[in-house]
Amino acid sequence: MAVFNRVESPRNAEEAIYSEIIQAGDGWMRVLKPGQVLRIVDLEGNQAADTLFYDADNPEDHYSAVATIAGQGNIYLSTGSVLRAESGKELLRIVADTCGRHDTVGGSCSAQSNTVRYSHDKLSMHNCRDTFMLQLAQWDGAYTKRDLAPNINFFMNVPVTADGGLKFDDGVSAPGCYVEVQSLGSSMVLISNCPQLNNPCNAYNPTPIQVLIWDK
Ligand SMILES: [Zn+2]
Repeated sequence: MAVFNRVESPRNAEEAIYSEIIQAGDGWMRVLKPGQVLRIVDLEGNQAADTLFYDADNPEDHYSAVATIAGQGNIYLSTGSVLRAESGKELLRIVADTCGRHDTVGGSCSAQSNTVRYSHDKLSMHNCRDTFMLQLAQWDGAYTKRDLAPNINFFMNVPVTADGGLKFDDGVSAPGCYVEVQSLGSSMVLISNCPQLNNPCNAYNPTPIQVLIWDK
């Protein structure tokens, strides 16, 4: 599979059944029905949309970076990538992508990672893990802290170096770039629109994203 597999969507925004702006630092959680397509738009470019998926019929079975990477033999995600759960079940497929590469290994930012990567006085800064926890707590009780797992960073550029390290690089996304996933069954989507202010993935400037949904 090509690393940059840019494919435009045939879907029109006017035909979407749902459209919402998620401000920088905000979270979003919603169920996709079988066949529904979710588009995430990087409105201003260089933003990171930290995202987790669950089998909505069996919330314990969450997105698995390991199963997804092993299943496709590639550490980056793009058009054609199948997002698998811990059980190996196919949850969603990326059906369009104008950015071309998304991170599977960087994980979400947290108070702890902020102190390790930057400095101890970053402990209290807003982070994706807090946003995930708030969204999970506000749902109907089916999800708890134990349901947090290594997530996808849509639009984020985290190249793996030749010696196996990770780099948080300047973004490869641009204003208006989008990615679309089609839900194969019933999938819960959890997004944290990253508030991170300490690395160049979002140009030190968190910006809004848009989510749109189409019926099958
Ligand atoms: Zn973050």
